[in-house]
Amino acid sequence: MLDAKTNAAFDGHEQVVFFSDEALGLAGVIAVHNTALGPGAGGCRIWNYPREEDALTDVLRLARGMTYKNAMADLPLGGGKTVIYKMGADRAACLRKFGETVESLGGRYITAEDVGASVDDMRVVARATSYVAGIPKESGQAGGDPSPVTAQGVYHCIKALLGDITGKRIAVQGVGHVGLHLCQLLAAEKANLIVSDVNTDNLERARALGASIAPVEDIHKLEADLFSPCALGAGLNERTIPELGAPIICGAANNQLATEADGERLVARGVTYAPDYVVNAGGIINVSAEYLGEAADVVDARIRAIATRLLNVLETAKAENVPPHVAADRMVRAKLAAARMA
Ligand code: NAD
Repeated sequence: MLDAKTNAAFDGHEQVVFFSDEALGLAGVIAVHNTALGPGAGGCRIWNYPREEDALTDVLRLARGMTYKNAMADLPLGGGKTVIYKMGADRAACLRKFGETVESLGGRYITAEDVGASVDDMRVVARATSYVAGIPKESGQAGGDPSPVTAQGVYHCIKALLGDITGKRIAVQGVGHVGLHLCQLLAAEKANLIVSDVNTDNLERARALGASIAPVEDIHKLEADLFSPCALGAGLNERTIPELGAPIICGAANNQLATEADGERLVARGVTYAPDYVVNAGGIINVSAEYLGEAADVVDARIRAIATRLLNVLETAKAENVPPHVAADRMVRAKLAAARMA
């Protein structure tokens, strides 16, 4: 029996809701971490895990990460996330059931797509709940697939860190929804791209943009101006950090540091780490604008502001002599404390 409170990733989450339907072959969990700044918002990840406990760990970590990401991005949203770790053959029925669970939370949690979920999936979820975003809207309204907007935020951060990117060698790990959009933006400015992925179709799309291909186990080791993790989390760890070939890390993946100590390890190696949740806020900025019914043109300025925020975090880290992820976390905790006092 899964129990959120005994999981090492539990961090005072306000609500953890398990949902399942044996006949459909569905099992998932929604975690609402913190609603001090607004309803818990974060996508739905559809993924297989070796053990159910791993799915619980992931959703707890991801929901907490959303609290930090949304607060850092100055959004009126708290943190939440869903993991569906068993998806039955009747996907539409499973997603409707998930939508009903979201609806039953009465707006404490807002969902959207994440790894393994699509715009079409969110359209199905929307038949059962209005607390969903990530669905294309009429022209002029913010909305739709958050991935291209996430990629834009990462791109602005990379430009802020590297300056002119023409001819710069950039290693991108994972060329899925975000990674490929990022490659398109970088290729348009003639960056020298090298990519890895476990999915050969995705690799072919990147190759068509002029990227060269590296083996999955080597991408982080390559000598490059910047390494951009855009696959899954925990890629920066005790094993990979000593092998890193780039002096700067800036990518879209959530939870890039396997442990807190890995942030210290990066500093010790002289690697500049752009904290993931500062960099990858573009998608949730778009989701927030969609959910609040805002016009699409408010989003661009907010996406550009991500890069300014990143530089501020890096300067603060230097001034306070702490790793960038620690500086970012401190800023967020101050915002959350102020919200609780208000
Ligand atoms: P995606 O599933 O479309 O892409 C992930 C890609 O990584 C896939 O092509 C997959 O084959 C590849 N991959 C998996 N394991 C790999 C490995 N070991 N080495 C290399 N490639 C590997 O997901 P996405 O939407 O592009 O998201 C990518 C990352 O960014 C995730 O960590 C996600 O949580 C994070 N993120 C996404 C968004 C968004 O808007 N989609 C927003 C914020 C953060």
